[in-house]
Amino acid sequence: MGDAKTGLLGISREAIETLVAHLGQPRYRADQVLGWVHGRGVLDPAAMTDLPRALREALAAEYGAEPDTRLAAAETSADGTTKVVVALPDGGSTETVLIPEALEELDDDPLEPEPSALSCTLCLSSQVGCAFHCAFCRSGSRGFGRHLEAREILAQLHWARVALGGRGNIVRLVLMGIGEPLHNLDGVLPALRLLTDPRAAAFSGRRVTVSTIGLPEGIRRLGETFGGKVALAWSLHAADEATRRRLLPVAARRPVAETVEALRDYPLPPRRRITVECVLAGGVNDTDGHAREVVRLLEGLRCKLNLIPFNPWAGTDGAEAPAATADGEPLRPPAPGRVEAFQRVLAAAGLSAFVRRPRGADILAACGQLLGSADLSRGGRWDS
Ligand code: SAH
Repeated sequence: MGDAKTGLLGISREAIETLVAHLGQPRYRADQVLGWVHGRGVLDPAAMTDLPRALREALAAEYGAEPDTRLAAAETSADGTTKVVVALPDGGSTETVLIPEALEELDDDPLEPEPSALSCTLCLSSQVGCAFHCAFCRSGSRGFGRHLEAREILAQLHWARVALGGRGNIVRLVLMGIGEPLHNLDGVLPALRLLTDPRAAAFSGRRVTVSTIGLPEGIRRLGETFGGKVALAWSLHAADEATRRRLLPVAARRPVAETVEALRDYPLPPRRRITVECVLAGGVNDTDGHAREVVRLLEGLRCKLNLIPFNPWAGTDGAEAPAATADGEPLRPPAPGRVEAFQRVLAAAGLSAFVRRPRGADILAACGQLLGSADLSRGGRWDS
């Protein structure tokens, strides 16, 4: 094997089953390996005490005993949110955020037992930088770097568990960190397979949410691959095309109706709903009129809304240009009471909407504030 061993986070179920068969061992050995890696967080084959020596040696020879990522830093905010920085093999880094308490707005089933006080949601990143340049989002402000490999996405869960230690459990995953997950299906789908594999990381699909800018092909692929079991969140922000174009460069290329059509076809299990996210910026997309457009667009779609007051991120150190619409209007949080008024318009039309409180804003860990870093030799910019 080559010298660049990637560690066992890089092994797929198919690859381990092939290896086990090749060694003439029973299939359940593959489940044991995946259980060690994704269930117990043990990455060194030598420590997998219930495996035959030949298998341990083959795993070590092919994948090595260590991951090719490392825990670079963990910083906890005043509200208990922890930003975990993971160093990537090419010298860059990515960020993942541990949020104590499950996000209640994503919980659809009132009969399900309440998670304990130490339950955490983990927000995962899928790319270095982002190609979509949404006006309010810091992650896209320096352009696109590269896709994360499946193992680099899985490594975020691994290192977040290490950072959490024995203090709690990760009970929910949201792909809402840096990047557009459905722009990186080659990394995201294999990662999701292991995250939802009952013999690997074993998250139920309803506890894993993919948040997307709304790429129709990606929505269809995700629906086909997991039969609708993985939860879906759509970043809509505004329903009318004129407002969308002020906030989302993608709106110039893709009519919003294409996304709605793909969402209608998503094979949602009974009683489940799609989450529709709107980041609300004062005067730009937060008026009652904007809320009525949202109601009109979503008519007949099984969904609930998630309203996110814009989190400012620029200007703190003067190094970044303030976020602004395509035509130059600076973005501000909504005026007091505006989010609630928006929510009332939705409620009057029978749409339930939750307001997402910003978490971790003091350490730039809240929605839209994550950045990561590129290899510094490239000047900290990814696509210039
Ligand atoms: N690309 C994906 C996932 C990453 S963004 C997507 O667009 O859904 C995750 C969520 O954070 C999105 O709903 C995004 O619109 C929101 N967000 C981005 N910047 C924000 C900001 N400054 N304040 C509040 N929410 C923001």
